[in-house]
Amino acid sequence: MNLKADIEPGTPSGGVLAVLGLAGHPKGLGVLFFAELWERFSYYGMRALLVLFMVAPAAEGGLGMPAAEAALVYGNYTMAVYLLSIPGGVAADTLLGARAAVLIGGAMIAAGHFTLAIAHPWTLYAGLILVALGTGLFKPNISALVGSLYGPHDTRRDAGFSLFYMGINIGGFLAPLVTGFLAQSPAMKGWLAERGFDPIASWHWGFAAAGVGMTIGLLILAFNRTLPKTIPAAPQSEGHDRQTPSPILALVAVTAGTLALMALILLSDRAGFEFLRWAYVLVPAAIAFWLSLSLEDVQRRYGAMFVLLIGAMIFWAIFEQAGVTIALFADQLTRSEIAGFAFPSAWFQSLNSLFVILLAPLFAALWMKLGERQPSSPVKFGLGLACLALSFVLMVPASIQAAEGRVSPWWLVGLFFLQTVGEMLLSPVGLATMTRLAPARAVGLALGIWFLGAALGNKLAGVFATGFQSAEPQALAGSFLWQAGLAGLAALAFFALTPWIRGLMGSVK
Ligand code: GLN
Repeated sequence: MNLKADIEPGTPSGGVLAVLGLAGHPKGLGVLFFAELWERFSYYGMRALLVLFMVAPAAEGGLGMPAAEAALVYGNYTMAVYLLSIPGGVAADTLLGARAAVLIGGAMIAAGHFTLAIAHPWTLYAGLILVALGTGLFKPNISALVGSLYGPHDTRRDAGFSLFYMGINIGGFLAPLVTGFLAQSPAMKGWLAERGFDPIASWHWGFAAAGVGMTIGLLILAFNRTLPKTIPAAPQSEGHDRQTPSPILALVAVTAGTLALMALILLSDRAGFEFLRWAYVLVPAAIAFWLSLSLEDVQRRYGAMFVLLIGAMIFWAIFEQAGVTIALFADQLTRSEIAGFAFPSAWFQSLNSLFVILLAPLFAALWMKLGERQPSSPVKFGLGLACLALSFVLMVPASIQAAEGRVSPWWLVGLFFLQTVGEMLLSPVGLATMTRLAPARAVGLALGIWFLGAALGNKLAGVFATGFQSAEPQALAGSFLWQAGLAGLAALAFFALTPWIRGLMGSVK
């Protein structure tokens, strides 16, 4: 995944690029920025509807699933999305090249969303499998392509990734507004009815919009003139020849390993096998401990990566419930109106991205100002987890109030604000630290470990969300409280273990 390319520092003209701050970056960044914007538009646009669609009764066009079953499907789908990025990255490195991987992946994602756009009982799983496979090919490799635009000593690299993260969140902000309007608004349902369409099938118009978004991203990639010439088909810098069989063997081994892991994770949903979920924490902890005993710096750094994986997993386990527990809380227990303006409940899903867009420049300025005095990565992880704990503490009184009827939308505004502050402290920091901890040749492996944390976290988000009961506010409050406690304990553990983790990290801060 760590490609290298000789790219002339381009001087793209055009007002849009200048406004977004893309001018002065390599030419390819604009293409990748907009392609990823539209891919994330499709991902978050569909995700905003997914659980609501699964639990909606058939009379409202949904699948009428119990919330606990929908939560497991959500967890397994989002787990697969991130887990498949491991073989997806290796497939690009060994066989396809990053550009072909993102094109094939993008086409599969669009096909998946259009499958979901068909109102038929079989389309759900087919659509989700296509999106998960496609995202596995698309997401890691478009990030690698961004990295490939900058040489090892190019000081614009971090700024380039910050811009890219902005593109992700512009997509994440716009998408629920569009898909939520199409799927949930009375205006859209009325429009459908007037034109002879079935108004309860409005969900599928939302899914179709996600497919249109990905198609736009795909067209941007397919028709650009910058990338094909500048991005190598495969990373010759990796030190192996594309013709030799060993990379293919590596791809087969990684794919088989990933599928075996996925099978074990899915098995952990079966009655009697839930104990396997303890392994998500215990196995990485045991690996970290074992590596920490090594006298070799490289091994100790891998130990630090596994500690960060555990922190990230707990973080995502709570954060990624945005698409399930919080989506249900917004839909069933919150007033969807501000200052007399009523809106679809899926619009709450835009708040995280909105806050990223607002807060990212502030955090960038803060780290610049603090310079050498800024906290180390483990401390930032602890602070991020603490923000997350606070966000779920906030949901305790909100849940208790819900016993009296729908609660104020400001609870969720507060929740998303705190969670986004936490995200800013953990997500970009973790990504950057993993790539720095890895030896130059193994950045792909480090990203794989990072995405494994996201995969297991998303899986646990689905598991934790099975406790959601809108009719039992006390139980809901209890569930938010113990999860806040879990994040709080993880934060304390990171603060307490900071000297040890820093020791493992060596010279990396
Ligand atoms: N919100 C970010 C994205 O969509 C990060 C998600 C994650 O790593 N779990 O890219």
